[in-house]
Amino acid sequence: MAKLYYEADADPGVLAGRKVAIIGYGSQGHAHAQNLADSGVDVRVGLRPGSSSWPKAEEAGLAVTTVAEAAADADLIMILLPDTEQAAVYSSEIAPHLSEGDALFFAHGFNIHFGQIEPPEWVDIAMVAPKGPGHLVRRSYEEGGGVPCLIAVEQDASGKAKATALAYAHAIGATRAGVLETTFKEETETDLFGEQAVLCGGLTSLMIAGFETLVNAGYQPESAYFECIHEMKLIVDLIYEQGISGMRFSISDTAEYGDMTRGPRVIGKESREAMSKLLDDIQDGSFAREWIEENRRGRPYFNELRRQAASHPVEQVGSNLRSMMPFITAGKRRIQDVSGG
Ligand code: NAD
Ligand code: MG
Repeated sequence: MAKLYYEADADPGVLAGRKVAIIGYGSQGHAHAQNLADSGVDVRVGLRPGSSSWPKAEEAGLAVTTVAEAAADADLIMILLPDTEQAAVYSSEIAPHLSEGDALFFAHGFNIHFGQIEPPEWVDIAMVAPKGPGHLVRRSYEEGGGVPCLIAVEQDASGKAKATALAYAHAIGATRAGVLETTFKEETETDLFGEQAVLCGGLTSLMIAGFETLVNAGYQPESAYFECIHEMKLIVDLIYEQGISGMRFSISDTAEYGDMTRGPRVIGKESREAMSKLLDDIQDGSFAREWIEENRRGRPYFNELRRQAASHPVEQVGSNLRSMMPFITAGKRRIQDVSGG
């Protein structure tokens, strides 16, 4: 078993006297900044002038300045901008204000691993990457819990980079849940693979294929939605709480037999080969090159795909059904509260 770090493994005193800048106040940024502040860390938030997050961060009692000022003031800079914005903001507003002994922190390894950001050799480069969305990083901290996270050290100029990352993980509540050490390479590649093959890409394609199969066979779209989309959360909640066998314990024997005999036919040889190919494209950098290039061109393909996805019939059916279940929209409102910027 890999070593996991918990409360007693971190020395929160490592952050004493350090000035932390959180750059960006989106999903992760608001959660890190507020958790650090509540943990007694000296934190400021760096934002664009005119950003709609500026008043939100001030209302939360945080000091807010421009990105450049925050980077200049602080000696530990956590970059929580969208991954596609980080390189430009880093070179214009952060790099000029770095000094020896500073630490650059990330919550995802993309820009360092794929060489989009190349910091000088005299700063620490580390990662503290929560394995969950920002609103959960905040909510679970407030409830006395935490979201598990990964830490990694890419460059240890000070000799204290790992201790600093652990102290930061402690301050955002992650050591309450468990902290696993990894590398920028492993985090970046597994994160991209997970979101493409399983969590986002695999999952939505599975749900839509199931929905379309039923609708095309003449079943009511509402039945197809309940069956292939709505119920997913209920099953995943059981897996989250009790593992796959635990979930199977809660379903009928008929469901369990169908699961074990038919599931491997849906995700069979062809799907496994596709997964392998996705991983190759991630490892050899071709996915990263494609996405960086798409951003350079102003995202025409991405925007077109978004438009097509939003007009799929599943969206209208789902929207109608969810509007009759106001109790499930509470979480959605919470996400909207912290987004935008
Ligand atoms: P986000 O899009 O929610 O928030 C980004 C913030 O940056 C917003 O406040 C936005 O207004 C601000 N911003 C955008 N461009 C800017 C600019 N040019 N100058 C200044 N501010 C600017 O991003 P996020 O999802 O919190 O992601 C931040 C980092 O955390 C990324 O590296 C991401 O990979 C990582 N991460 C995210 C999650 C998640 O669940 N959202 C989980 C783990 C790690
Ligand atoms: Mg991820």
